[in-house]
Amino acid sequence: MPDPLPSRCRVCGGHTGERRDDTWVCTRCGWRLGDAPDPDIPPPRVDVVYYLRYRDRVKIGTSATPRRRLNAIMHDELLAFETGDRHLEQQRHQQFADLREGGEWFTLTGPLVPHIAGLRTRIGEPWAAYDRWLGEAFRRLSS
Ligand SMILES: [Zn+2]
Repeated sequence: MPDPLPSRCRVCGGHTGERRDDTWVCTRCGWRLGDAPDPDIPPPRVDVVYYLRYRDRVKIGTSATPRRRLNAIMHDELLAFETGDRHLEQQRHQQFADLREGGEWFTLTGPLVPHIAGLRTRIGEPWAAYDRWLGEAFRRLSS
C-alpha cells in the first residue's frame, strides 16, 4: 500500500512511495529518494519514438525531450511511446510506408492499429512508461 512521499520524486514528480529499510522508493518510477541525483550529473537521456494522433492521422517521430516536443505539436492524443531513436523511427517509417500521407504523418489504419495496440499493452500508459524509463536511466547513471 503506497504512502505519500515526504517530498515529490525528483525523477518523475510522483507523490507516493513505499518505505524500504531507510529509504523511500517512488511507486511510479522506482527511484530511491535517498539516492538524490547528483546535481553535477546531467539528467539521463531517454530517446523515445512517439505515436501522436491528430484526427485520423498519426505522427511517428522521435525525441529525447518528449514533453517539450509534444507541447509544440498540435495533437488530440498521445497513443504510445517506445524506446528508440532516429534509427527506430526510420524503421517504423519504412514499415508503414504504405500508410504515409506526407512527412511524418501516417493514416491510422491497417497494420498501424494493432502495432500501436501492442505497444499500449506492453508499456501501459505512455507517460507512466516514460517515467519508469527515466527512473531506470537515472539508476544506471548513478550506480
Ligand atoms: Zn518517481
